[in-house]
Amino acid sequence: MYHSIVKIGRAALAQGVELVPSSGQFLECPVCEVLPGQRCVNVPKHPLEDNVLHVERTELAEKALRGEIPFPIPLR
Ligand SMILES: [Zn+2]
Repeated sequence: MYHSIVKIGRAALAQGVELVPSSGQFLECPVCEVLPGQRCVNVPKHPLEDNVLHVERTELAEKALRGEIPFPIPLR
């Protein structure tokens, strides 16, 4: 499951397709520290507003998919 998400994400990037905002969901959030697969929660100074995920989480996912940072090991 996890690897197929990565594959789909890479394929989307290769085609220049913008990743959907929920694409960061397979990572642990660096802001609110929810586990992979969970939606972000509001934390002080980092309101979610209308987003499902924190912007930082989505950026982290995009960097990982581009190979700029090592892929975080999914928690078990
Ligand atoms: Zn979050």
